[in-house]
Amino acid sequence: MRNQQKLSVAIVGAGIGGLAVAAALRKYFIEPVIYEQADAFARVGAGIQQSPNAVKVHRWLGIEERTRAAAFVPTSSLNRDALSGKVTNDHPLGRAVEARYGAPYLTMHRGDLHDALAAIVPAHNIRLGKKLTQLCERGARVALSFADGSEVEADAVIGADGVHSLVRDHVAGPAQARFTGRLAYRTTFPVSLLRGVDIGTARTKWWGKDRHIVIYFVTARRDEVYFTTSQPEKADWMTRESWSTTGDLGEMRAAFASFHSDVQKVLAAAPQVHKWGIYERDPLPAWSKGNVVLLGDACHPMTPYMASGAAMALEDAAVLARAIDEADTFDAAFRLYEQTRKPRASLVQAGSSANNWMRTDTNPDWLYGYDASRVPLRSKLAADASTYYES
Ligand SMILES: Cc1cc2nc3c(=O)[nH]c(=O)nc-3n(C[C@H](O)[C@H](O)[C@H](O)COP(=O)(O)OP(=O)(O)OC[C@H]3O[C@@H](n4cnc5c(N)ncnc54)[C@H](O)[C@@H]3O)c2cc1C
Repeated sequence: MRNQQKLSVAIVGAGIGGLAVAAALRKYFIEPVIYEQADAFARVGAGIQQSPNAVKVHRWLGIEERTRAAAFVPTSSLNRDALSGKVTNDHPLGRAVEARYGAPYLTMHRGDLHDALAAIVPAHNIRLGKKLTQLCERGARVALSFADGSEVEADAVIGADGVHSLVRDHVAGPAQARFTGRLAYRTTFPVSLLRGVDIGTARTKWWGKDRHIVIYFVTARRDEVYFTTSQPEKADWMTRESWSTTGDLGEMRAAFASFHSDVQKVLAAAPQVHKWGIYERDPLPAWSKGNVVLLGDACHPMTPYMASGAAMALEDAAVLARAIDEADTFDAAFRLYEQTRKPRASLVQAGSSANNWMRTDTNPDWLYGYDASRVPLRSKLAADASTYYES
């Protein structure tokens, strides 16, 4: 839709995917408006891994310098047995991964990634305190209603409103995301609290029988450490609030009492912890309806076991903006986008669900080698979900 800059595009949600797609559309001279329910952006305590495929989107959006300056570059993806400490796979990251894929593997604070994206979307493109309550088609346009009683219309709507997406209900019909029966404890805290305990320079995953923990630095200065766990939860414990529900330190330490002493020391040092229910959905039959389309967790929420949810949201953002630029109508753009992205996102959803990524020798070429800024936009469904790889 080149040269149609007057098109109005509303984005619901200013998370990783919403900000990224806003910045991407602005590259094509479309000025979208993001509607975000939160009144302000907060630096919630969570780490995030950005594999080379994600960093290629940082580069395309113009934030790579900033994210590289903030992030830690782990030397390897180290996988260890939780009881014996035996190494099951030590996959090189650092220089090796950058040489192979043309972009680094970063571990960083989610807040630093969010800040970097927010910095490239001007304030006049963002409306805070706007909780979407309803969507309806009005002729060729879409009307959005908000909790504060206000209403706007747009030519197209992008649902980037996360795992409990309301926009998804409009596109696919109402259905709860599936609680996996597992929950995660996670926190970031100053390295000084470790009192000399060495966590090494890898991103380390300790694999137990039915639970695991991942530990890594989230800053270039190595002054902040992050861990996230996953373990079964007997009680029917669920929360819709993903990021800020507090967990009990004693319960968490007890759940990992059988783990290697290196893990126990890290858990002992944590001053507080958040807990978070792990949800997933099966792939949706269609990613759009009329002029409403989904991306990121709203479209294909996944368990975090391949550390790829944000990477998929970033890739979606780049491909969706390119498709909108290239196609003549939103309908055609959304089909192009879905055809390009669905095989890959579904593959990552399934791989995340299986929770065996990197546990033993793994070839990540198909995941890390993808470049969403250059992948050919498909005009028919891709038979090969492994997509586009350039060495
Ligand atoms: C503990 C944890 C660890 C993770 N680790 C990694 C990792 O290492 N690497 C990785 O790539 N991914 C990781 N992920 C996944 C990643 O964080 C998500 O996949 C990613 O944030 C999805 O981005 P999104 O924009 O789709 O959704 P979100 O970032 O969740 O953003 C959704 C936004 O929509 C807003 N919103 C929701 N409803 C409404 C409404 N009705 N009206 C207006 N606004 C609304 C929300 O407030 C929020 O700002 C992890 C996730 C978790 C929870």
